[in-house]
Amino acid sequence: MTAFYEHSTQGPARGTIRLLQLYPRDMNIYGDWGNTLVLVRRAQRQGYDVELVSYDPGGELPEGVHLVVGGGGQDSGQDRIKEDLLAVGPQLRAWAADGVPMLVICGLYQLFGHRFATGQGAEIPGIGLIDAETRAGQGRLIGNITLDTEEFGQVVGYENHSGLTTLGPGARPLGTVRVGDGNNGSDSTEGARVHHVIGSYLHGSLLPKNPVVADWLLERAVALTGAAWDPEPLDDAWAERARAVAVSRPR
Ligand code: GLN
Repeated sequence: MTAFYEHSTQGPARGTIRLLQLYPRDMNIYGDWGNTLVLVRRAQRQGYDVELVSYDPGGELPEGVHLVVGGGGQDSGQDRIKEDLLAVGPQLRAWAADGVPMLVICGLYQLFGHRFATGQGAEIPGIGLIDAETRAGQGRLIGNITLDTEEFGQVVGYENHSGLTTLGPGARPLGTVRVGDGNNGSDSTEGARVHHVIGSYLHGSLLPKNPVVADWLLERAVALTGAAWDPEPLDDAWAERARAVAVSRPR
């Protein structure tokens, strides 16, 4: 476990957010680190300190976590973390039930579900935090993707996965696919929501181009710290431009 302390850039801190980054060594692909950076920087610019704790297999989970983020990875990365994830699964499920906001992308999204059946005939068990299961398909689902969501409006990103995910009744989708494949290429769903947990296939990374999702996560994290969330408007012109380019790109 390594921890960095990042200070508010707005004077005395209004509170401290403990942000847990899961498995950055093995599960961190197609720019997923960008999600962590966006959460840290937006929190700092709203006047919060952030304690960023990175957790890899064999580490010790911190207590008092306010926000969890984790990225995607190859099947081989999923294989390396699978035992450790099962060991920390009960704690992650307990945090989720307590309302800790979480964002997990692609490979970790799959393993937050019940299981991932790989193309090699192996089964990687998941922690069942999200009512979903995944089975490798014949090909890969790759390209720019755009969703319509109820809570965040249009969400844009980039997907690259072989897994086909089906949601159970205990999870609702993050959004409806407008362009792209999403969970499985056939039912128009993308991602999953349960408690304050978001699972998604969207890399890109997701949060730099979708700051409204970052702020939704931060608002819930700040509520857990006991501090007030009363954000100042930030200049999101670059994010807007990135969104516009992403939406206009061919698949
Ligand atoms: N290995 C998984 C798949 O291909 C996850 C890939 C990823 O995280 N990008 O379905």
